Amino acid sequence: MSDITKGAPGVPQAGTPASFALDFGKAWEYAPAPESPDHVKIAPKYELFIGGKWTAPQSKKYFDTVNPATEQKLAEVAEASAADVDAAVVAARTAFEKYWAKMPGKERAKYIFRIARAIQEKARELAIVETMDGGKPIKESRDFDIPTAAAHFFYHAGWADKLEYAFHGRKARPLGVAGQIIPWNFPFLMAAWKIAPALACGNTVVLKPAETTPLTALLLAQIIEECELPPGVVNIVTGAGATGAALVDHPGIDKIAFTGSTAVGKRIQRAVAGTKKRLTLELGGKAANIVFADAPIDQAIEGIVSGIFFNQGHVCCAGSRLLLEESVHDVVIRKLKDRMATMRLGDPLDKNTDIGAINSKAQLERIKELVASGELEGAERHSLACTIPEKGYWFPPTFFTNAGQAFRIAREEIFGPVLTIMTFRTPDEAIEKANNTMYGLSAGVWTDKGSKIFHMATQLKAGVVWGDTFNKFDPSSPFGGFKESGFGREGGRQGLGAYVEVE
Ligand code: NAP
Ligand code: MG
Repeated sequence: MSDITKGAPGVPQAGTPASFALDFGKAWEYAPAPESPDHVKIAPKYELFIGGKWTAPQSKKYFDTVNPATEQKLAEVAEASAADVDAAVVAARTAFEKYWAKMPGKERAKYIFRIARAIQEKARELAIVETMDGGKPIKESRDFDIPTAAAHFFYHAGWADKLEYAFHGRKARPLGVAGQIIPWNFPFLMAAWKIAPALACGNTVVLKPAETTPLTALLLAQIIEECELPPGVVNIVTGAGATGAALVDHPGIDKIAFTGSTAVGKRIQRAVAGTKKRLTLELGGKAANIVFADAPIDQAIEGIVSGIFFNQGHVCCAGSRLLLEESVHDVVIRKLKDRMATMRLGDPLDKNTDIGAINSKAQLERIKELVASGELEGAERHSLACTIPEKGYWFPPTFFTNAGQAFRIAREEIFGPVLTIMTFRTPDEAIEKANNTMYGLSAGVWTDKGSKIFHMATQLKAGVVWGDTFNKFDPSSPFGGFKESGFGREGGRQGLGAYVEVE
């Protein structure tokens, strides 16, 4: 065991042999540079957004959403019951029949374009609320989540009047009402990722955000209201798993789009079996990031670090397994430690923060439990020595060496800033190890040779294979899984297919 983190509850204390903290003197110390939340208005209470109106839940129940970096309550949010979900589905059906499906694509495009512009105008506020509600560093919500969400609306605005070109001249009809359920790791981006293609294709939407991160979906509802979309085209119902289940079970839904865990995805697949509902599932992952000896190592280090520590590892396609060609194992580990020693964990609103808060106490417990299993099974743990804030949920960037393929840390999704490192000797061994998982969402290959990247990409059973880079996204690029990472694609021309019936 090797952690030297101070003050983390349940995390062992300093002084153990394999801990590391390089002494760069004051070279990496920055003055605090917090983004001010002063101008951001978070209401004390949020209702449901149904049929274009802010509606109190029929149950009169509300739940708290907290800031995981401070444990402070941010707002009370309505808990939608099955009756509220029903009202939202009815509103979406009415909007579909009365306005949205009838509207020419070029008119729908204008609304979607307007949403994209409004997101850009409110980008700063959205980034701050995203960071406060979910715990991710402001530089990520500001530079990645919000701009990419706007890009999804811009991209799909462009498709709305060109659908016949997407399907080679065949007519594409919308499906009807889409029920969309999203997780807490990219709350605003996932909402955009789901809503934009549905609207472009002429469907109406009932979306349920995750319980711990509902706020930016509610701000998106405000944007949609300001953009004067016809009432009921987009409905936002907040709540927990039961609200999601009510949406899945509702007979008035034509399509379910789900992003979340494989366990819940399987439950949803069983629930919609035998119904008319179409289904796409974006589930978990255990991506292999494969580094060959001929790779540009310094560049690979950046890809490894961003692959697993980006958003505290709360990323379904995180490069959570690192496969190193044996001859470069030691040099990569040394450089990885050097790079990690420059990382700053702390206030997510600080522009210099690299590692923010873990999204919830429950998620922190899951990470700790899996990390403990890695130590018990005999892997060697290396955690960055850093000061852990007193309040909030935190886990230091960590990697394991000497891990076996059968260890839980090599098989199960940790969904935290924890990397499991293994080695290989030949490309075939790398492929075999990378594919030795029930998941298949993404993979990375680092090498000097383009031909090797293409060879590996054809052999790896993963929806996305990045070559000499990692965690790069674009609305025009389809994303989705193999095996138990789900089915269906989101983004690009392929993503449109999930929201239309082609004649
Ligand atoms: P989760 O527990 O499956 O939750 C996902 C969403 O489903 C949440 O809104 C959740 O509500 C809701 N939900 C829970 N139980 C439900 C049920 N029985 N019926 C319908 N909806 C239900 O997953 P999570 O822990 O929030 O998210 C992490 C997982 O998402 C990871 O496994 C990750 O890999 C995966 N993920 C995948 C992708 C991808 O594109 N493949 C992207 C991001 C995340 P509450 O949160 O309110 O309980
Ligand atoms: Mg929260």
